[in-house]
Amino acid sequence: MKKIAVAAIVIAVLIFGAFWLKSDKHFEQQSFLMGTVISEKVYGYNARKASAEAMARIGEIENTMTVNAQGSQAEALNEASGKKSIRLDGDIIEVLETAKKYSSISGGAFDVTVGPLVKAWGISTEHFKIPEKEEIDELLSLVNYNDIYIDSNNGTVRLAREGQAVDLGAIAKGYAADQTIEIYKRWGIKSAYINLGGNVSVLGKKPDGTLWRIGIQNPRAANGKIVGVINIQDKSVVTSGDYERFSEKDNVRYHHILDPHTGYPSGSGLMGATILADSSVAADALSTAVFVLGLEKGIELVESLEGVEAVFITEDKRIYTTSGLKDEFIFDDESKEFQYVQKR
Ligand code: AMP
Ligand code: MG
Repeated sequence: MKKIAVAAIVIAVLIFGAFWLKSDKHFEQQSFLMGTVISEKVYGYNARKASAEAMARIGEIENTMTVNAQGSQAEALNEASGKKSIRLDGDIIEVLETAKKYSSISGGAFDVTVGPLVKAWGISTEHFKIPEKEEIDELLSLVNYNDIYIDSNNGTVRLAREGQAVDLGAIAKGYAADQTIEIYKRWGIKSAYINLGGNVSVLGKKPDGTLWRIGIQNPRAANGKIVGVINIQDKSVVTSGDYERFSEKDNVRYHHILDPHTGYPSGSGLMGATILADSSVAADALSTAVFVLGLEKGIELVESLEGVEAVFITEDKRIYTTSGLKDEFIFDDESKEFQYVQKR
């Protein structure tokens, strides 16, 4: 009798243990953070814990970097513009340093000091508006990434002139994606996927050993329709497009990516630009940069960077890839409206 009871307990513990192990070996969740839908798929022992820590970390980054959030560090920096330097966390200092680097290599096509213009256009709010030309010209004088003074030894930052403002919307999600991948690695995870509103990073391969298939969205079709696929491991894929956030007035599409040299939504002839890179923060900054630069200059910039590739979709529905993507990009246009221009 006793033996049977012990055996029953052992079996119960084994079954429960197996369930417990299984439940913590694959974990998926979705959340709304950083103004977008975040989805995570994490595989391996401790998946649930790794995933929870990653989501918490994204929330922390959002609280630091969002300009519209009262009490965020980005907002504090903007409020102190032209007045004083302020002490900031390592996270935002790193993002600002990275932002300056990509501003410089893109000749200012990417520039986080577009903050005053982003506000004037009502980007990131429900109240889109077309500012007067005079207002745009006035605000343009406040846009200059060289006016961000970073003292990394003391952890302080200053914006040189009053009224200047940073907007980290083009780079913060990439930073958050890199941070989550680091968290997964610290938990010993070997396979994971994180998507922050189209800003995708993957760790390793899929649990079945195949590559992750990342769809490139059709810029003129409803969500889910693609024009191609990139198969990847240990990489980030980030897209900037004129379809992600826009308003239309008198048949003109006003989208959310501004040309820091004109103050207007960039009109470079692209509908979308996708960057493939090891780091998501690089991919995020560069996708915005090349979207503003356009096809020719964008390809030139990407080809000059080690380990970075790109897919460009032009307004005349042609798709171009950089040389290193010839084999990885699989053209698969369900709409039959796009043309893949293989080799330039
Ligand atoms: P993304 O979708 O990553 O290309 O980022 C676009 C967001 O970044 C916009 O919603 C703005 O908040 C901000 N932004 C717009 N234009 C620029 C630019 N040229 N450089 C840096 N940030 C920008
Ligand atoms: Mg970006």
